Amino acid sequence: MTPTRCLLLCLATTALGAQAAPETLRATSERFRAEAFRTHTAYTDLAWLCDHIGHRLSGSAHLDQAILWAQERLKAAGLVNVHAEPVMVPHWVRGPESADLILPAPHHLHILGLGGSVGTPEGGLTADVAVVGSFDELDKLGEAVKGKIVLFDVPFKGYGHTVIYRHDGASRAAKLGAVAALVRSVGPISLDTPHTGAMDYDPAYPKIPTACVTIEASTQMRRMQQRGERIQMKLEMGAKTLPDAPSANVVGEVRGTETPEEVVIISGHLDSWDVGQGAQDDGAGTVIAIEAARLIQSLGLKPRRTLRVVLWTNEENGLRGGKAYRDAHRSEFKNIIAALETDSGSERVKGFHLELAKASSDAKAAALASLKGLEAAMKPFNVTLSLGHSGADVSPMVAEGVPGIGVEHAGTHYFDVHHTHADTFDKVEKDDLAYNAAALATFAYALAQSDVRFQ
Ligand SMILES: [Zn+2]
Repeated sequence: MTPTRCLLLCLATTALGAQAAPETLRATSERFRAEAFRTHTAYTDLAWLCDHIGHRLSGSAHLDQAILWAQERLKAAGLVNVHAEPVMVPHWVRGPESADLILPAPHHLHILGLGGSVGTPEGGLTADVAVVGSFDELDKLGEAVKGKIVLFDVPFKGYGHTVIYRHDGASRAAKLGAVAALVRSVGPISLDTPHTGAMDYDPAYPKIPTACVTIEASTQMRRMQQRGERIQMKLEMGAKTLPDAPSANVVGEVRGTETPEEVVIISGHLDSWDVGQGAQDDGAGTVIAIEAARLIQSLGLKPRRTLRVVLWTNEENGLRGGKAYRDAHRSEFKNIIAALETDSGSERVKGFHLELAKASSDAKAAALASLKGLEAAMKPFNVTLSLGHSGADVSPMVAEGVPGIGVEHAGTHYFDVHHTHADTFDKVEKDDLAYNAAALATFAYALAQSDVRFQ
């Protein structure tokens, strides 16, 4: 049977085995959905993770607790080979931080240091602020920013477009002699909520402290500058990078019955920033990956291929989990059918996007046709199946030819709370998590039952 034909017609064996009437993937999917909505296990798991452990930055005791918790949940879901694969991760700590305008009027600002930033000298630094709207504007000012704090007041035009200022802003400003860099938070709206995130230094220039300010504060300083007012700020940051710390990816499996060496990976990342609860980023991805595997187990299904849950460490500030997994599992690559990652929040699943980094355009077209073979099974979820981007944690494997699949979620409010104190459990809709877990279980199970190979 061709792979596509298999996916359309493939039969799932029920818990009763050969004596029971076979059912279509569509019927199996309905049972996933019924079980997910009956128990709402993903929702109660996420509540526990958020309320009892909270945010989970690499190197923190909270992340260590989450790694233990995730293994317990995978075991409780009936998975086998549950274990932690050790990884050394960066250990950045924020320390105390504050920012206060001195001129033109005293004003306390809410800031968050950016992950990886150095701190200020003891006692903080006081300097004038120069506001720019782009790297071009900065370069036009040139050495006029020497000794100043540069603020990048760049409106949000999509995450990928705007995040470059958070990531590169400090070194671009340091190159011209600035003593610190601030960036307008990378997000569409604000309730005076700064959005942290990773930055990186260019080793060619001095490392200067860098933090995000709220949209409110950023636009206020822009107005002050436009009125010709002198802006002076005191900035104090205790951020520092400690030696690398031990951490781990968490792994568990539903072993395949016919070709167990062939593996479908479903994944999310366990770590988060050190603010809020990491509910959307990526507690939601974590709990639906666990729940998708539990749904398959709870229905007594025995997939032909192995289904492997991987919960990554250190997505946010280093990708060490994804890199270590690549290095440790290279010999398996030809048998990793696909590595799925869900890391875009808790809203409803909208699409599954296949990334083939090393394939020819002909091979991509053939792979897309195979992917489209899942359409019948996925029809109740109304998702798009296309070529596209997979995910950060799987990207080291994908770069070496492993098929990656990015699970896209509706992002109506994702970037409103992303990397903020407001990324908390109360923003998550109970039914969305159940729906997403059923969709992920259906997709992963269909692949595990099929003969499809994308590479
Ligand atoms: Zn994430």
